[in-house]
Amino acid sequence: MLLNGKVVIVTGASRGIGRAIALLFAAEGAKVAVNYAEDKVAAEAVVRQINGDAFACKARVEAPGEIEELIEKTLMKWGKIDILVNNAGIIKDKFLMMMSQQEWQSVIDVNLTGVFNCCKAIARPMIAQKSGKIINISSIASCRGALGQVNYAASKAGVEGMTRALIKEFSRYNIYVNTIAPGFIESERVKNLRDEMKKDYLRLIPLARFGRPEEVAGVALFLASDAASYIQGQTIIVDGGMVV
Ligand code: NDP
Repeated sequence: MLLNGKVVIVTGASRGIGRAIALLFAAEGAKVAVNYAEDKVAAEAVVRQINGDAFACKARVEAPGEIEELIEKTLMKWGKIDILVNNAGIIKDKFLMMMSQQEWQSVIDVNLTGVFNCCKAIARPMIAQKSGKIINISSIASCRGALGQVNYAASKAGVEGMTRALIKEFSRYNIYVNTIAPGFIESERVKNLRDEMKKDYLRLIPLARFGRPEEVAGVALFLASDAASYIQGQTIIVDGGMVV
């Protein structure tokens, strides 16, 4: 098993990509804190499915106090944190002219400030133990843009910039920071798209299909494992060839 005994926090693990990462990491021997914002029932279902060392923990990533509590609870339970996966994210799509200040700010708060809050809260324990892996989830919207997503694209480009800046601070403590930028992945968000939109997007993907959450989880597992011991500050695109 690739993550035997490792302690992991996955933000936004109640469904979609975060859920797939939590399940795969647990199957590889990790103890997993399954974070969620609202959906306690779904998060507890993930914990039951893991059927091992896991617990569900509500914390909104944009609220620093709640994130500090999540870190504290995990440390109290397992004594260390080896891996943080910053997966929680939201969309509030609108054309710029129609986008309210609130729709801009809330996406920045969750997707970008949320990653800042989690990295800041995890810094002290990871620096003290002189090891750690942080895996951020951005999006190909950061490099190709997307209609109605100025807030989302800016937040995800920010995460990739933060990744590159963080390694300048964290590498000396043997803390790795890398980002995965998914394309269209079949979570609820993509499943709910209208059929014509799905067809339009599929035409842009050389592999001619959407990705599965497990296909992002596999890359996260690689980055979390010792196999990725010389990969630092990178953004790995997982999009079936769409950006190319
Ligand atoms: P989902 O919308 O399916 O799930 C989002 C998860 O984030 C849920 O667990 C949700 O918890 C949690 N969450 C939402 N807001 C907060 C918050 N404020 N604090 C803590 N947790 C929160 O997302 P996906 O699985 O589709 O996406 C996961 C990540 O991957 C996101 O960062 C997304 O931007 C990115 N991504 C997704 C793509 C896709 O095609 N699906 C493409 C590119 C990037 P709860 O259930 O409690 O609300």
